[in-house]
Amino acid sequence: METPGLKSNVTMDEITALAKRRGFIFQSSEIYGGIGGFYDYGPLGAILKRNVKDAWWRENVELRDDVVGFDSSIIMHPLTWKASGHIDQFHDQMIDCKVCKHRFRSDHLKDATQCPDCGSKNSFTEPRNFNLMLKTFVGPMEDTASEAYLRPETAQGIFVNFKNVFQSARKKPPFGIAQIGKSFRNEITPGNFTYRLREFEQAELEYFVPDDGKDMDAFREWVDRRKKWYSDYGVKSDRLRFYELTQAERPHYAKAGIDVEYLFPWGWGELESIAHRGTYDLDAHMELSKKDLRFFDEASKTHYTPLLIESSAGMDRTTLTMLIDAFEREISVDPNGKQTERIVLRFHPKIAPVQVAVFSLARNKPELVERARAIESGLRPSYRTQYDEGNIGQLYRRQDEIGTPICLTVDYETLDDRAVTVRERDTMRQERIEIDRLDTYLRDRLRG
Ligand code: ATP
Repeated sequence: METPGLKSNVTMDEITALAKRRGFIFQSSEIYGGIGGFYDYGPLGAILKRNVKDAWWRENVELRDDVVGFDSSIIMHPLTWKASGHIDQFHDQMIDCKVCKHRFRSDHLKDATQCPDCGSKNSFTEPRNFNLMLKTFVGPMEDTASEAYLRPETAQGIFVNFKNVFQSARKKPPFGIAQIGKSFRNEITPGNFTYRLREFEQAELEYFVPDDGKDMDAFREWVDRRKKWYSDYGVKSDRLRFYELTQAERPHYAKAGIDVEYLFPWGWGELESIAHRGTYDLDAHMELSKKDLRFFDEASKTHYTPLLIESSAGMDRTTLTMLIDAFEREISVDPNGKQTERIVLRFHPKIAPVQVAVFSLARNKPELVERARAIESGLRPSYRTQYDEGNIGQLYRRQDEIGTPICLTVDYETLDDRAVTVRERDTMRQERIEIDRLDTYLRDRLRG
């Protein structure tokens, strides 16, 4: 859906090209022509994605005494997926255009009578159900009894372990279990770069609360926390919305649901879903496994099934969002009237892959190179740093394009005044800072 007056300032082609040029994201197995729905993270992308995951983990696990971390296996007993409903219901409807042979998800078509690619009228096949789970075999036999699934979400690993976790962690509701891990969906139409993948990572928080009338408060608190998280990491508020699902849009068992959406270059797209799922998930596993997963409350000596508030965020989509949201193109005019363009990624300093770049002004002056390298290695244990040398204009341009907030240059004066030129990405202000004061200066700006 279009939002009047609000447009992304970058195209997906520009993002894809920048991601490849600077080593954020590459097409998987590119030398063999690629494979649809799979991507690899390059040197900078791997750090960016790790920083996004760490930021999520820090906020939702490390800083909370009511949430514990978890890490479950990707392949689980196939009955897990029977109980969760994925075997019977995790379908999308697939439809083909008989003229151009392109395939679509029927719920993604704006007009069910006309092919969006070739324009043919009434050329679609009947919709067919298509299960999105990827299958594999466990053990040496490739028969039905050995069939297993690559998990399409991480949450079920938490539900089947619910009792193990609350007993071993000695927790009682309200408390949460969080994990970040790979999920797999055989999407009919992967696309929009890393937005819709067949292999991706999810960060899921399952927060269990007692049925004491305060469950909707807990739901709203989690929505507020997630809002704050996006805002803390600088995602532009006019490009983010929290869409409240109507009863008809929610699954029948869900009491409330919010989709967190970002305004991507092609329109609004889901980043995360936050849902009040009641007792649906634990009930389903108790029914099929015949195991009691209820919580035993010592105080009242009663068993009860806690209600569940779930937040499920895609880490690849969030990383892509950070990349798009940070993108800015600036045109400046020098005193001679010459226009220059710079592309800047304004990453939040906490997630920027490189926080401090250290340059030697000249490549062939050993005293400058040695000094710059010594400064860089001294800062390395505390900050994400990178050493580079050469033409200063090119060095700044390269660091702007990868979103480095601070650049330090060692020049001839450094040898006399023991100071470096510090340039900030956002203000482009330059100042001399003594080497002994660097750590304090950087801590103020980067650790925040
Ligand atoms: P969509 O409607 O876009 O297919 P969904 O509603 O099926 O998404 P959920 O099952 O709610 O997604 O999964 C939670 C989150 O996992 C999503 O908000 C998204 O960030 C991420 N996610 C889901 N499917 C994919 C995918 N194919 N590629 C990348 N991330 C995904």
